[in-house]
Amino acid sequence: MKVLVAVKRVVDANVHVRVKSDGSGVDIANAKMAINPFDEVAVEQAVRMREQGRATEVVAVTIGPDKAAETVRVALAMGADRGIHLKTDARLEPLAVAKLLKAIAEQEQPHLVLLGKQAIDSDCHQTGQMLAGLLGWPQLCAVSAMQLQASNLSVQRETDAGVQTLESGLPAVVTVDLRLNDPRHASLPDIIKAKKKPIHVSTPEELGIDTRARLVEVSFFAPHQRSAGTRVTSLPELASAIETALQESN
Ligand code: AMP
Repeated sequence: MKVLVAVKRVVDANVHVRVKSDGSGVDIANAKMAINPFDEVAVEQAVRMREQGRATEVVAVTIGPDKAAETVRVALAMGADRGIHLKTDARLEPLAVAKLLKAIAEQEQPHLVLLGKQAIDSDCHQTGQMLAGLLGWPQLCAVSAMQLQASNLSVQRETDAGVQTLESGLPAVVTVDLRLNDPRHASLPDIIKAKKKPIHVSTPEELGIDTRARLVEVSFFAPHQRSAGTRVTSLPELASAIETALQESN
């Protein structure tokens, strides 16, 4: 069973990004970059499936600029067998990414495609759903536990109403939540070994996919600063603080 895992290079979750002074975007020129945290969980899941003998091959795919190759190397160091890098400097919307992943899925014929539930830079939360729609495969989204028995997939997802269990056959598209597992840190020998693993490089143009953006980014601004709160020590004090705040807002 082959597992395809989509990994995106994003700004490291610990970096505090700033909006550019002209409001045209977010300044990430010198920001530390990393694998999208949800994708790290997806890679861990795929590698565990191979280690448990449920998967035979794990292929990590990324779409992005030259440096996105580093993200594939992270997946390879975690245990993925080989990588695919679709090189592009274009800003890609989820539909374009989904079309490109569909083309890769048609070439690779995986039984399972794993993606993160969302990319933490754009927070779109759309690519997996669009990919499943384009492929005509079942989609199991924001999965926090999963079991595979033969070709039957059973997953749990946390909803506002409780934990939902879904089952499907394969092939399928699964997007993962952070709760699914605790990703490993690659060891130095694994990082060195990963340098020898193959990465196939191609471009969206070679696949004949139109990746033009459909949306225009109009403006960016930083969230408004909130004024500091006040600490109260009793209920009457809280009631009077609420009353004052209400009077001030009227
Ligand atoms: P999004 O719909 O943009 O929030 O992204 C959801 C998931 O799609 C991510 O967690 C990745 O698994 C995958 N994905 C999005 N963009 C890319 C990309 N440029 N390269 C590889 N995978 C991507």
